[in-house]
Amino acid sequence: MQTWEWIHAQAFYERVERLNLHGLHFQHAALCERRAWLYMHNVNFAHWHARVALGAVRHANAFKRDHSTAGLFGLAPDMVDWENNIVHENKGTGGAVEAADSQTAFYALMLSIATGKAWTAKTHVLSTKKVRDVVMDREALDRMNRLSLRLEALAGEAEVPPARPIPLCQTCSAAVFCGYD
Ligand code: SF4
Repeated sequence: MQTWEWIHAQAFYERVERLNLHGLHFQHAALCERRAWLYMHNVNFAHWHARVALGAVRHANAFKRDHSTAGLFGLAPDMVDWENNIVHENKGTGGAVEAADSQTAFYALMLSIATGKAWTAKTHVLSTKKVRDVVMDREALDRMNRLSLRLEALAGEAEVPPARPIPLCQTCSAAVFCGYD
């Protein structure tokens, strides 16, 4: 197998370690910077939002999480195919493709950095039983790098960033806080 290289690998890895980033950070950042800011500052509305609580139960019951990544950079993908270098992640619905795939791409990217081999990723949409290949080309990796830089900036911001209503607000646990419920 060809050696995997990416010019931003070292800096990306160090940023992830320093800020303790994981897959959901990247999903939130791709969706809404306010949502990402709330998540980074441990402001969590999920416990009183019924839809999120139900989704969490469905996800937990979908199939057992793969424990082979335990202790590996805090990675928690749903399943890892170590033989073929493929990360699998479950999603309840097929919406917000770019954001959902950012989470899965994060796992594959971190494994590529750690092993020096190219990893790919697949998103499994539970509601339709369809499987989607996550794009892992250079453009996608550079986009992940830009998201990590935005997350670093958001971590240092004391004020909640501005946000405009988007379709996701209808199901976001912070909707009441934002006034977009
Ligand atoms: S309710 Fe909308 S604007 Fe507010 S954090 Fe959620 S997605 Fe962002």
